[in-house]
Amino acid sequence: MKAGTAVARAAPPRAGGPKSDASKGSTPHPSTPGPQRISAPTNGNPVREGPAVASTHFIRSRIGKICVAITGATPADMMHNAEEIVRENHFVEFRLDYLPNPLAIIPRLKQFLYERGEITAIATCRRAATGGKFKGTIPAELEILEKAAQAGCHLIDIELQTAEHTKPAQMKKLRSFGAALIISHHDYEATKNLDAVFDRILPFQPEFIKIVSTAKTLADNVTMMRFLDSRRDEANIIGISMGEQGIISRVLGLRAGSVFTFAAAHAGEETGPGQIEARTLRETWRIDHIDASTKVYGVAGNPVRHSLSPLMHNIAFRRETVNGIFLPLQTTRLNDLLTLTREVPLHGLAVTMPFKTDILKHLAKTDVLSEKIGACNTVVRAQDGKLYGFNTDVAAVIRPLERRLPLRGAKVLVLGAGGAGRAAVFGLVEKGAEVFIWNRTAETAKKLARQAKAKTIRREQIIKSNFDVIINTTPVGMRGVKPASLLEPKELNTRLVFDLVYNPIDTPLIRMAREKGLPVITGVEMFVHQGARQFEIWTGKPAPEEEMLRVVIHALRQESAKESAKDRS
Ligand code: NAP
Repeated sequence: MKAGTAVARAAPPRAGGPKSDASKGSTPHPSTPGPQRISAPTNGNPVREGPAVASTHFIRSRIGKICVAITGATPADMMHNAEEIVRENHFVEFRLDYLPNPLAIIPRLKQFLYERGEITAIATCRRAATGGKFKGTIPAELEILEKAAQAGCHLIDIELQTAEHTKPAQMKKLRSFGAALIISHHDYEATKNLDAVFDRILPFQPEFIKIVSTAKTLADNVTMMRFLDSRRDEANIIGISMGEQGIISRVLGLRAGSVFTFAAAHAGEETGPGQIEARTLRETWRIDHIDASTKVYGVAGNPVRHSLSPLMHNIAFRRETVNGIFLPLQTTRLNDLLTLTREVPLHGLAVTMPFKTDILKHLAKTDVLSEKIGACNTVVRAQDGKLYGFNTDVAAVIRPLERRLPLRGAKVLVLGAGGAGRAAVFGLVEKGAEVFIWNRTAETAKKLARQAKAKTIRREQIIKSNFDVIINTTPVGMRGVKPASLLEPKELNTRLVFDLVYNPIDTPLIRMAREKGLPVITGVEMFVHQGARQFEIWTGKPAPEEEMLRVVIHALRQESAKESAKDRS
């Protein structure tokens, strides 16, 4: 039997709260105590718990899969944020510990919940000792939560350490106000001992058990999901792994058995590391639609936090009604990625730095180009369960060029000889172009020229030469990378300029070319093109390329606007 359900089933509806309005779905507080229940041994004594609390079934019927955390520096600020957040989210957590004096918000909270019967609210006042911001004592925390329950909050959240240091009588009193109890445990270091923590919480018979760990590897998500799956029938569990590497658990944990997940109201307002914005979870990642048959894909590498691939591919999945989810898979270790790929299992990977070469030996087969270049950016799990590798970067360099000029015999200068440079050089040589490579490290340029049957060029020769195309395949021009440009205007003796850098869209090189009246190809075109080919490899469907381009350009423009605003302030 699930923890808390005995109470839940016997519980009368909450009555006597600020307002009893069944049609609006509000949960009245109990006016009379419900059945008593003996539970957790605390401080050596069995706890005789208080009266009936809000039914877990009732609560579960009201909440979606996302609980949005509300913060604020003052009561007015927090209520202002709440007003905005509940327009789109009816399940929220008031992080009372963010307030210097949490009790000051109670009257406003009561009024708010009275007026907004559709809202389901958690009250949390986590102490600093357990990772929150509240500097007060356990009795002070409990007093605030009691008041929050009286004000109409449907759930109150206390930490396991708080529960273990609370006398049975105090616990009984806390539970006498009709709010369901969440007992939480946060591990800010690792994902370990999940079963042991669960077994410590279970005897308290809270309505919900929340176990939050920290993912140090992608494989930690597998540990969390296995735990959720194995204990989901014993309690209403919320299980999450924090951190960049734990993002998967925030999404796939729901499928493994987590009752809900937490989200940030907006980017920059996260209450836990790795928390994702609610709108992104709902609209872009569509976590309400994830089920057992949802195929999981991701962009793997380091760093991938700001990659636009999740946005682009999730939008493409939505547009083409593909039952798939695309996640950022942040890791520095290939073995970690391979474990996740095997265990989830993943159906496709967009591979980025630093794995493009090392992943090759772990694939059942790769296409000829990936082998030649020695790099693969796309992995697909075929129906036989094996992993196959492709390189979509090559086509993404070649096709935009072929649309503009014939490549056979074209004289092309490639700046850079890294992964993208190799893709460009091999692809161009195969199309019959005469390719000249310049690279900061001359030796690497020479090696690539030998392998691909291209030529190298010295820096001082560039100004004296004419090209059909100049392609930048280095990160120079990316936001924050110095120098901002490798070439000077007088060195752009070419008919066309192609910059692979796509953030910002208008790089210094692109601007310089436009000022000289030269046609350009931006990195966005390549980015979307390589993504579209990946989509086709994974799904077998034509990619909605225009839609993909639209969302990527929109996101980049928004980012540029934010950066400019930051620079101005
Ligand atoms: P990579 O393998 O690390 O290669 C980087 C190359 O740039 C190397 O040749 C390196 O020269 C050179 N380089 C780095 N910093 C430099 C600097 N400050 N001055 C001069 N040269 C410098 O990286 P990659 O995977 O090829 O990616 C390179 C760029 O292409 C990135 O900005 C990436 O975002 C972009 N890209 C875009 C797309 C797209 O879809 N638009 C796809 C792939 C890549 P050394 O050999 O001397 O280190």
